[in-house]
Amino acid sequence: MDLTVLGCAGTFPGPSSPCSSYLVEHDGFRLVVDMGAGSLGALQRHVDLLDVDAVYVSHLHADHCIDLVAYSYARRYHPAGVPPVLPVYGPAGTRDRICNSFETPPRDGLLDVFDFREVGVGSRTIGPFQVDTVRSNHPVECHAMRLTAGGRSLTYSGDTGECPDLVELARGTDLFLCEASWTHSPDNPPGVHLSGREAGEHAAQAGVGRLVVTHVVAWADPDAVVAEARAAFDGPVEQARCGTTTAV
Ligand SMILES: [Zn+2]
Ligand SMILES: [Zn+2]
Repeated sequence: MDLTVLGCAGTFPGPSSPCSSYLVEHDGFRLVVDMGAGSLGALQRHVDLLDVDAVYVSHLHADHCIDLVAYSYARRYHPAGVPPVLPVYGPAGTRDRICNSFETPPRDGLLDVFDFREVGVGSRTIGPFQVDTVRSNHPVECHAMRLTAGGRSLTYSGDTGECPDLVELARGTDLFLCEASWTHSPDNPPGVHLSGREAGEHAAQAGVGRLVVTHVVAWADPDAVVAEARAAFDGPVEQARCGTTTAV
């Protein structure tokens, strides 16, 4: 399984990265997890514009889903013709969220472009991936997900505050892609995002193989966020970097 970071900036695009989006590939199947602002551009540096097999958006905040609007244009008006409908997984309300982001919601509901599959948390198969999800701790429904294929596993936190269910989901996972939006402070609002320290603590409690810290907001110091995570977790810790690919 390969993970390519298409975007890792938290909340709004940063100077060197779009918002959250990750290309996960196994056996030639291409799953895009989240499609935040600006990520459609980055996607094209790695695969052909149409060469995506499925999308799963963790939640409906714009920094995780809004480039589905742009992507609907790219697929509907492609000179090669409209490609096969693309499965788009997401929480309840995904189709309305995307359609209502147009100046006038498309009358056809984008159904010739996207096959919206609004799902609850649980277990399902998407291509070669076993996908297990739990609700994270965030103001809107957000799916943390564990992807397993070829005997390897990747767990992605989505956006979350402290979350025991995420620790269980991530237990023993090979790569834990975990948000850490800011450095630790008692002033951080609860139930929204993790600090670097909390991401490290979640990784330690789950006994993961390695931790990749993502969703650092542009005004936070990424080195300080990663340093906090390293202090809390003994295993390898890296900062997600836009454009890099790593074997899980
Ligand atoms: Zn976010
Ligand atoms: Zn969010």
